[in-house]
Amino acid sequence: MAVPFGKSKIYTAIVFEKHSEEPKAYEAKEIYQILDELPIVTEIQLKQWQWISSYYMCSLGDVLRAALPKAFLLESETLVLKNDLFEQEAALTDEEYLIWEALEHQSKLKIQDIIKILDRKGVLSVVNSLLAKEAIEVKEEIYEQYKPKYVKYIQLHADHQTEESLHLLLDGLTRAPKQREIMLCFFQLKQGSNEPVLFKELIKKSNTTSTVVQALVKKGVFELIQIREDRVSFDTEIQPIHDLSVPQKEALDQIKTIFKEKEVCLLHGVTSSGKTEIYSHLISQTLEQGKQVLYLLPEIALTTHIINRLQQFYGDKISVFHSRYSVDERVEVWNNLLTRSDKAQIILGARSSVLLPFSNLGLIIVDEEHETSFKQFEPSPRYHARDTAIMLGFLHKANVLLGSATPSVETFYNAKQSKYGYVKLETRFGNVQLPEMELVDIKEKHRKKRMKGHFSDRLLSLIEEALSEKEQVILFQNRRGYSPVVECSTCGVAPQCPNCDVSLTFHKFNNELKCHYCGHQQALPKTCPACENPTLDSKGFGTEQIELELKELFPDTKVARMDLDTTRGKYGYQKILQSFQDHDIDILVGTQMLTKGLDFKNVSLVGVLNADNLLNFPDFRAHERTYQLMVQVSGRAGRDQKRGKVAIQSFNPYHQILQQVTVHDYPAMYQDQMNERHQFSYPPLVRLVRIVLKHKDFIKVDTAANWMGKSLVNSFGDQVLGPTSPSIGRIRNKYIKSILIKIPSGVALKQSKDQIQRIKDSFLSIPDFRAVQVIVDVDCY
Ligand code: ADP
Ligand code: ZN
Repeated sequence: MAVPFGKSKIYTAIVFEKHSEEPKAYEAKEIYQILDELPIVTEIQLKQWQWISSYYMCSLGDVLRAALPKAFLLESETLVLKNDLFEQEAALTDEEYLIWEALEHQSKLKIQDIIKILDRKGVLSVVNSLLAKEAIEVKEEIYEQYKPKYVKYIQLHADHQTEESLHLLLDGLTRAPKQREIMLCFFQLKQGSNEPVLFKELIKKSNTTSTVVQALVKKGVFELIQIREDRVSFDTEIQPIHDLSVPQKEALDQIKTIFKEKEVCLLHGVTSSGKTEIYSHLISQTLEQGKQVLYLLPEIALTTHIINRLQQFYGDKISVFHSRYSVDERVEVWNNLLTRSDKAQIILGARSSVLLPFSNLGLIIVDEEHETSFKQFEPSPRYHARDTAIMLGFLHKANVLLGSATPSVETFYNAKQSKYGYVKLETRFGNVQLPEMELVDIKEKHRKKRMKGHFSDRLLSLIEEALSEKEQVILFQNRRGYSPVVECSTCGVAPQCPNCDVSLTFHKFNNELKCHYCGHQQALPKTCPACENPTLDSKGFGTEQIELELKELFPDTKVARMDLDTTRGKYGYQKILQSFQDHDIDILVGTQMLTKGLDFKNVSLVGVLNADNLLNFPDFRAHERTYQLMVQVSGRAGRDQKRGKVAIQSFNPYHQILQQVTVHDYPAMYQDQMNERHQFSYPPLVRLVRIVLKHKDFIKVDTAANWMGKSLVNSFGDQVLGPTSPSIGRIRNKYIKSILIKIPSGVALKQSKDQIQRIKDSFLSIPDFRAVQVIVDVDCY
């Protein structure tokens, strides 16, 4: 519904609760307009929103904005219309007349248009005076932004349906060969069926323009019809799901047994063990019970590859939902779910699809559950899709299956605590072996001068070997760009971003320096901005540099790169994957985009150029993340019968994490990480709440952070860390301070959050701090 605020503003709102107590502090207004005949959100959604708002410490409005497709949040626009009875034009001032005149040509104007016409702001007084003179009327109109898509089809006009009239018609067209040709094309496309033909296709096939076809419509030969078509429609042939192998079948049975007792189960299956196949069996069984399925994937893994794979089993029953889809497409999925349409039996989607209006949910699959991108960072609500999915499962009494080859420490801990069930699958499908792992000591190689650029002689010979066998190679480097920093070799200064406290990244192909935090770009200066010597030199390296080196080392080989810079646009990512699949690319270099669920049969070698910068990342999850990334990227090798190879280059090959990666020792990694987290109090043993303060003025944010820090220490004692400046202390011209609160398990979480909320409220009531932006991030990453 729409509700008025003040004199002219209209907001859309949802009825959350009905009661008959008159508000005391303000005067209740009437509802302006009921927008929907039937509810567009479900009661379970409202419960879920309340949980999110309370757990993640954000407003219900934040959740509503994240959940509802933008098209449902109608905008209010004041429209100015002409009063046709008005005749005293002479009584109008110059500005009033301009508007009046514009209304002669245009039946209505928005306030925005009037601002343009008068070329100034504050036009409301002019509008008011026109109103007083009764020259105009104003109207508040609410636009429904979502418009269903219609597709044009051509069919034969009803008059020509008989054989006889058709012959007459064709004879009549002998002198219009072009039109006759279109007619023949039309019948060819129809192939004897009674269905209309796509307008676009007819034009293409008969090699003509729309005007010629339109002429036939005018002549009464054809009829133009518009058919509403959901944008996301597929017409692939349905195939039965695959039979499971013996180990897969065992795993499935175990999962089903667990689901009788527990809501959540972790499926810990090595890469290429066929987790997706197991999911399919669970999905089919859920559909048979007439229930809906939510299949959550990280955004980056939502490729045509996985979509096609599931469509082949479920066809039209799947709706895909992710941010690369348009607003309209998302509204369609929403409506399909609400109306329990056949098209929305399975939702395949990224993070935000946990917020959709499921009505009868039976199963949730969270694939790649360890992926940190399931956590929303900006804007609020800063929810974790996996944890929100578990809550959603609880609300629907639906089962939740978490799948991963490298479970997060948190999830594995929950499984160990028997909070979740646990099923293990240790063999790859078809008994393909896990790849053979090899660590290459590049410190040694440098010393012995066995490096060419960033490649060790060992990695180069492995690449040559793979290429000579006509096999493909994947190379992983976690930084994009040419080199992370450009530094002056005379004075050591590195060009900085003017808006953020971070060095700029060099992109060679356009010779630019770029900030990966705010998007700032500038040409690479010829001389050092500090000492003016022409000695700017690049340090470190990114994917772009690796690509260029490869092109020099292997001039006859097709090399491509996949990172944020090469995959913009809706299909950017898919195009590269498709060419790789088609073997139009021999070596693919990329960032962690490469690690997600891609299934290429012909990749026999995976190379990691440098494992060290991952390990050295200053974060308590850095080692866990390195393990996960290395194992996931290795999993891309040798998916067919031949055993794949993985070579990891490092300055520190004896690092315990790299050793654990090479022997796939997840339990050892888990135990080491848990020991550290016990020792230093980190999740899953405590909960983390991070408070981030931002302001343009450093002194202000510093004072504010100290105030906040002291108040928190009063309540939480030595569980408070900070305030500190993060490693990048300024982004987009705002200074940042951050405070971390550790809430031990056992201590009531809700009470602690209430206390944090109270401190935040008193903080915001201090006039000096009101302009300081406060971000609260629960279970932060
Ligand atoms: P994971 O998700 O565990 O990495 P996938 O489900 O992608 O593994 O399976 C890896 C490959 O093996 C895929 O190409 C898949 O089609 C194939 N596969 C796995 N299980 C089966 C099965 N039971 N029947 C046929 N093909 C299978
Ligand atoms: Zn910047």
